[in-house]
Amino acid sequence: MSMVFENISSYGHEEIVYCSDINTGLKAIIAIHNTTIGPALGGCRMWNYNSEKEALDDVLRLSRGMSYKAAIAGLNLGGGKAVIIGDSKTCKNEILFRSFGRFVQGLAGRYITAEDVGTSVKDMEWVRMETEYVTGLSRALGGGDPGPVTALGTYSGICATVKKALGKDSVNNLKIAIQGVGHVGYHLTKYLTEAGAKVIVSDLDQQALKSVVSDFGVEVVDIEKIYDLDVDIYSPCAMGSTLNDETITKLKCSIVAGSANNQLKNEIKHSQMLKNKGILYAPDYAINSGGLINCANEIQGYNRKRAFKQAEGIYDTLMSIYFRAESDNVTTHEAALKEAKKRIEDISKLKNIYLKK
Ligand code: NAD
Repeated sequence: MSMVFENISSYGHEEIVYCSDINTGLKAIIAIHNTTIGPALGGCRMWNYNSEKEALDDVLRLSRGMSYKAAIAGLNLGGGKAVIIGDSKTCKNEILFRSFGRFVQGLAGRYITAEDVGTSVKDMEWVRMETEYVTGLSRALGGGDPGPVTALGTYSGICATVKKALGKDSVNNLKIAIQGVGHVGYHLTKYLTEAGAKVIVSDLDQQALKSVVSDFGVEVVDIEKIYDLDVDIYSPCAMGSTLNDETITKLKCSIVAGSANNQLKNEIKHSQMLKNKGILYAPDYAINSGGLINCANEIQGYNRKRAFKQAEGIYDTLMSIYFRAESDNVTTHEAALKEAKKRIEDISKLKNIYLKK
């Protein structure tokens, strides 16, 4: 058996498409993980992978994650992702993205693309010249920056986690450390300070820090000190893998809830470590689904009010994860996975009823 088929079956994918266009230099892989609930939606990442295997592993892992993210968010979408192999700083141009768009169009709506690491709204506008199956467009054409919607969803998720862990109806007077005050972290700081929380922030970018200090009067801490703070909540809103052997040992908070993707370095080990320490962890792909909710809204015809309202629903999503974690005595990571898989399974049962299309 070849490596590709081994990978498809081990991750449970439906389809993997290798896109090669010698005229434009495009080398891309589109992975469709599961379309039980709806068309596979997931961003297109552009990265200078060291090998084709690295690119394949990345697209397989990310597309599977999208199936669970959409399922848990209650969206009628499946999971997919694309990767373009190349340096996003030097290799981007109109024909590359239009070529990618033609491959997406060839999938006839089974996969819908969007921006991701290494790609931008502008790139998606080139993609849109060749296919209607693209989201993450500018406000003129679509939903614009998803940061504010993701921030509201993250704020709602923090409120649910506070209710479950501390029995409080508000974040008023709670101490919250936010790591990263970019597109999401800036707006999250706004929601939290408006609700009376005492926010401490860290960021590598001095300009980003300057904005939150002058707009919301928050305290700043050195980036390496964030894990040692005596706070109620640690909110990772920058990069992944910040929950690991070293950092979990340091944490003094009772809640981890933030927007960053892939927060747990090792999902099973580190979710268990957090549980053992009595820290309630808000599963990343459940609390940060506001960005996907924003894209899903673009497909239906963008309505900003509806997108914000749906993002607030992350409160209930997290509550049901916490109740399942408690009743099954599992980590919140495992409970979220069970909930996501259950929704996919439940919806597959609907297909027993024949409907003429
Ligand atoms: P961003 O790039 O706008 O902001 C991230 C910020 O983190 C930057 O200001 C950066 O300087 C800072 N940072 C980087 N390394 C840091 C470190 N070691 N310590 C402190 N700060 C550091 O990104 P974003 O759009 O705000 O997204 C934040 C996180 O949320 C990412 O993990 C992203 O994948 C995830 N996410 C974002 C969205 C969205 O709608 N933008 C949706 C879902 C998930």
